[in-house]
Amino acid sequence: MNIITRFSPSPTGYLHIGSIRTALYSWLFARSKNGKFILRIEDTDIVRSSKQYYKQHIIDSMTWLGINWDYGPYYQTNRLNRYYSIIDYMLKSNIAYKCFCTENRLKVLRQSQLINKVKPKYDGHCRNIKHISNSSINYVIRFRNPDNGYVVFNDLIRGDISFSNNEIDDLIILRANSMPTYNFCSVIDDYDMGVTHVIRGEEHINNTPRQINILKLLGMNLPNYAHLPILLDINGKKLSKRNKSNNIMYYHNNGILKEALLNYIIKLGWSHENKEIFNLKEVINLFNLNKISKSPIKFDVNKLLWYNKYYMNNLSIDYVISNFIDYIKFLNLNFDRNIKIKDLLKLTILRCNTMKEIIDNYHYLYSNKVNLNPNYLNNLDIKDKLIFINVFKDFLLNLKESNDWSVHKIRNILDQVFLNKENKKIFYQLLRFAITNSYVSPPLSQIIYIIGKFNIINRIENVIKLIKK
Ligand code: GLU
Repeated sequence: MNIITRFSPSPTGYLHIGSIRTALYSWLFARSKNGKFILRIEDTDIVRSSKQYYKQHIIDSMTWLGINWDYGPYYQTNRLNRYYSIIDYMLKSNIAYKCFCTENRLKVLRQSQLINKVKPKYDGHCRNIKHISNSSINYVIRFRNPDNGYVVFNDLIRGDISFSNNEIDDLIILRANSMPTYNFCSVIDDYDMGVTHVIRGEEHINNTPRQINILKLLGMNLPNYAHLPILLDINGKKLSKRNKSNNIMYYHNNGILKEALLNYIIKLGWSHENKEIFNLKEVINLFNLNKISKSPIKFDVNKLLWYNKYYMNNLSIDYVISNFIDYIKFLNLNFDRNIKIKDLLKLTILRCNTMKEIIDNYHYLYSNKVNLNPNYLNNLDIKDKLIFINVFKDFLLNLKESNDWSVHKIRNILDQVFLNKENKKIFYQLLRFAITNSYVSPPLSQIIYIIGKFNIINRIENVIKLIKK
């Protein structure tokens, strides 16, 4: 069988971790079987998906993560004529009917069902209305779901699932605004596009029997279904679309490498032995739907940070550099061109979880200027100030005269100038302050080396000026 899977998000908000996991697993399944993968944007809910940037966001997120598609992106709003012609056919063959019920009637119906502890469901009021004289009355079109019998399907992750038809509503397939609905369009598209495996979140299990009924009554082949386990936050609550940290690009914007995010998402429901680290190529060989868990999975951001630190330290340094440079460009940061990025990264990736942390915590390493907090110097008395100025001048002279700019040489100069000084500790503290505007930092010789001769000289001259004031 030629496998075809699809990812079919509705652009009603940003893609979140759960949607990307659906995309990734569908993609992995297709790639693992030499199949094809489709990207389809389900945008017929025009009220909620009017924003073009959500559509662009889908494309950008998939592109960032390298989840490439063979066909698409298809937009359902470009396929309306196809849906209309099928709805026409369904009306003529009595598989569908016009429903003129007002919102108010449906509301009252629902309330009375709730009061009577009956599962809310459309009561089929308009099923047998043939004609309505007032043509200006709004109507929707509903699918005539079979009254009796069961829908049973074999979920590739969960096994047989069965629904009784008498529990299933007559689904609206065309809204009053003439837009067809997700459940209907999705079914037609899956059929037209030859989708063999529908892989999607558990929240769609209830849609599946309705979709199967539509396909059956239209005489169309059924795809296979696989419903992925629900994702929960660390407190066991459903991941909320509204939480900005569930937006997939949030991770990009916070300096997470795609390798880390992909690896972590792969692990959110799928596993292979006790392995933690996977690259995509490996997973393509190993991926199988029967290794997917049925139980809810918790998303733990600390685990993601763990992966990110791992990848920052284990991917090739040149690759990490190029990601870091892209990230700097993305942030539109002023990055001093003379900075030794490779050494900067080697020093900081051991100490940070994300590229954002590097940017936030090591400003002094990449910026050509640090803003010193002059209050620090107010505590020095005149005598100390003079001593400091002389020692710093000595240090500057040594730096300027040295032709060798290496960590080793810088360490020698530091030792030579400061080591035997009586208040060595304070000197070091002040030097660290001059360079970093902080009292803690990685070893001075390393940071001086990274910042470079020109900038270091400037910073020390700057602090001498401040002391003199
Ligand atoms: N448009 C649906 C969603 O975003 C897709 C569901 C499906 O995969 O069938 O949830």
